[in-house]
Amino acid sequence: MRLILLGPPGAGKGTQAVRLTERLGVPQLSTGDMLRAAVAASSPVGLQAQAMMERGELVSDEIVLSLVAARIEQSDAQRGFVLDGFPRTVGQAVALDTMLGEMGLALDAVLELQVDLNALVARMTGRVAEARARGEATRADDNPDAFRTRLETYREQTVPLSSYYAERGLLRSVDGMLSVDRVAIDVMSSLGLKL
Ligand code: ADP
Repeated sequence: MRLILLGPPGAGKGTQAVRLTERLGVPQLSTGDMLRAAVAASSPVGLQAQAMMERGELVSDEIVLSLVAARIEQSDAQRGFVLDGFPRTVGQAVALDTMLGEMGLALDAVLELQVDLNALVARMTGRVAEARARGEATRADDNPDAFRTRLETYREQTVPLSSYYAERGLLRSVDGMLSVDRVAIDVMSSLGLKL
């Protein structure tokens, strides 16, 4: 199954992506993780992406599309994938359609986690404080300024994707404000699957 997980930063996409990949036996393809790995490795892509990421702005389509194209072609993604954090703009969605079309593939569904954007800053601040209290490392973009920029970027550039995929009959919306387990059940049932 080829899925996209759509939702703002802090909506719980990563948590649900892990559950989906376990249930479906397909990999999670997170552009955020790919970019953070590139930054950690100080690769040319990482060096270009780092400043944008730290500010909470989008990295260029050129960089993100080349990472996704290379990843989708790997053998573990042949049976399907859960895309997390991509596409983030209508331009990226169009490019993905073209890319998959050229490979003779198509998307099965786009799962949207619906959350109250105003509740997310509090959620994120709480999460970061808890992680720090446990002595865990936090992300360079997990500070209130970058987080607000991430939310604003989402509002402006990613929200239009819901209607893009609704028009194509692919959108399934799930209430992301419920418990992790409840959201997981709703995600599965929106795909016609049991947990
Ligand atoms: P979150 O959804 O929590 O904001 P991600 O881990 O998905 O975080 O992404 C972190 C950062 O990586 C983004 O703020 C952005 O700078 C960059 N990024 C990730 N995916 C994309 C994408 N598809 N297009 C452009 N930039 C991206």
